[in-house]
Amino acid sequence: MVSINPSRRWQPAFYPFKKEKFGRRLLAKTELFVKGPLFGCRMCGNCLLQETAFVCPMECPKGMRNGPCGGTTPTKNCYVDETRKCIWNCIYERAAHLGREELLLEVLPPLDWEKVGTETWGEVAGLIKKTGTLKFIGDVFSKDRVKKSKTWDSVFKTIRQPEWWQGDSDYHQPAYQEPVSELE
Ligand code: SF4
Repeated sequence: MVSINPSRRWQPAFYPFKKEKFGRRLLAKTELFVKGPLFGCRMCGNCLLQETAFVCPMECPKGMRNGPCGGTTPTKNCYVDETRKCIWNCIYERAAHLGREELLLEVLPPLDWEKVGTETWGEVAGLIKKTGTLKFIGDVFSKDRVKKSKTWDSVFKTIRQPEWWQGDSDYHQPAYQEPVSELE
């Protein structure tokens, strides 16, 4: 689906570090089969698509998960491979088009190597069940935006912001005034 991401190029998916049970391996294969062609999914094990305007940030050659590295060429292409667009530029453009720019403020977690290569769908299904499947469906299709976002976040924010990370969307003042080194 080129309309979702115009700079799509096939990159291999991750494999789990540990051997998974058959059911989870099957689910992971199914997830990759669906999300691979649609989003260029590489099975990072912690899906951020809702935050990144449905463009997978793992298509970035450097795996940047919180914005561009700063190496974008004047033509907004990637300096690692100048034939492809900077994936973060695609994310910003699409987020602006969909009115989802504020979601890009949230500080997203780095890869969790315990989960890399594993499926996310089982976790999503488990959390939807915990919320109550009918309640989840009702709230997500509700016109009440607050209720909708609260229920949605109860599932997806729980997944993308694990206990050990808990990134927020706030501005955090640096603890120092001057750069610590000339590299900063
Ligand atoms: S963010 Fe991760 S799980 Fe989601 S589509 Fe990209 S690689 Fe796949």
